[in-house]
Amino acid sequence: MLLPGPERRRRAARLRTGAISAVEAVRTALDRAGRVNPKIRAYMVLDQEEALRSAERLDRSPVTERGALFGLPVAVKDNIAVKGLPSSSGSKLLRGYRPPFDATVVRRLQEAGAVILGITNLDEFGMGSATTRSHLGATRNPADPKRIAGGSSGGSAAAVAAGAAFAALGTDTGGSVRQPAAHCGVFGVRPTYGRVSRFGITAYASSFDQVGCLAPDLEDLARVLGAIAGVDPRDATTAARPVPDYRAAADRPAFPHTIAACAEEDLRPLDPASRMAFGRAVRRFRQAGCRILRTALPDTEIAVAAYYLLVSAEASSNLARFEGMRYGRRRVREGPPAATFRETRVTGFGAEVRKRILLGTTVLSRGYRDALYREASRTRRHIRDALFRVLDRAELLLLPVTVSPPRLVAEPDPPRVEYRGDRFTILAALAGLPAISIPAGERSGLPFGIELMGSRWNEAGLFSAAAAFDGTDRRTPA
Ligand code: GLN
Repeated sequence: MLLPGPERRRRAARLRTGAISAVEAVRTALDRAGRVNPKIRAYMVLDQEEALRSAERLDRSPVTERGALFGLPVAVKDNIAVKGLPSSSGSKLLRGYRPPFDATVVRRLQEAGAVILGITNLDEFGMGSATTRSHLGATRNPADPKRIAGGSSGGSAAAVAAGAAFAALGTDTGGSVRQPAAHCGVFGVRPTYGRVSRFGITAYASSFDQVGCLAPDLEDLARVLGAIAGVDPRDATTAARPVPDYRAAADRPAFPHTIAACAEEDLRPLDPASRMAFGRAVRRFRQAGCRILRTALPDTEIAVAAYYLLVSAEASSNLARFEGMRYGRRRVREGPPAATFRETRVTGFGAEVRKRILLGTTVLSRGYRDALYREASRTRRHIRDALFRVLDRAELLLLPVTVSPPRLVAEPDPPRVEYRGDRFTILAALAGLPAISIPAGERSGLPFGIELMGSRWNEAGLFSAAAAFDGTDRRTPA
């Protein structure tokens, strides 16, 4: 059900050059969605009529007034507010909610001429790496529908990979854009913390959450990030820094002079086929003339522990508002208000979300705070400093995205395996650094991705290096 890479890229290019109209672009994406969605469940909701109406309006607009994303059909993850469309964060507790406003990123997409096609599936509140924990059920990988698409932005990745959207928005707390991008064979970028507004995003772990983008090619990925990035008065965590021209960076392929690559040791958790595929990627950089600095990563086992303690603590606080009074679908229970709070939360949240709330409140409670929360925060600072040091010596850091190919939907991992599968992607998230997931061929017949991490605000460096790496792929087809 994958739309082959060259075909996805050709379609995107035809829209950019004006060879097809906005309506034609939107129709092609909707046709694909109509055909594949019953099988892969990438979309929760398709907004066909409104999408076509917007595309018609765009086609009638004067050529001189057309934005950078003119006619681009985009899918949006279910935890990002689109005015009037359902936004449930995959949770039963929020089913039926329709935000009366647009997230800043959505408004910026529309101002740049993009057309919102619909809302995509995810793990409840972004908690997961597979897109199986939502009231809709699992999203399937277009490359093999028996397998997961990765998560938690799996709906967005699957929609792009299947050609049912030209680009998509996701959110990345600890890997949720990069992992599904890798599993589905598309590009996915997590920007620097503070680069993109989170106004209108349902918060999971606020010191980690970032909005990211997914696309079949770097040019559109860069254009979408360029459109949504930049300071927003409605989100005080955004930085007032100029946004570089990412598209120009993607158009200017350039290998970095020195690249740090994680050490053999760090690759031990990978299955043999993934390890070989990673080795091939390192060789591609070396053959292109990059100086490779083999560098040990910070201890990724400890990073996983720190990450899960911290995100659970933040989630327990962020999700406290969903009690059926201020937010969420109320389930009334006789007795004091606490009985209704309880009923609402116990029946509304899924098991994983409840578990993390319990873990989070424990982590923050008196008596555990010092041993757990403070210790995890300290570990986070060590990891961040270690990564900063690596990126002082090398322009970029190369590492895997996932530890194994996408698993079968029917064979869920036990939590300790699932959480450890995030060991590589959580690093950039702990440090607030930008990172991009790049398709790097296949292993075991399934898409394989690598990750490049950059120093703060250096998304442009990621785009140039990714373009150079991608160029070697097109010269020597896998
Ligand atoms: N799998 C990780 C988690 O569940 C990352 C999810 C995300 O980035 N939203 O926390």
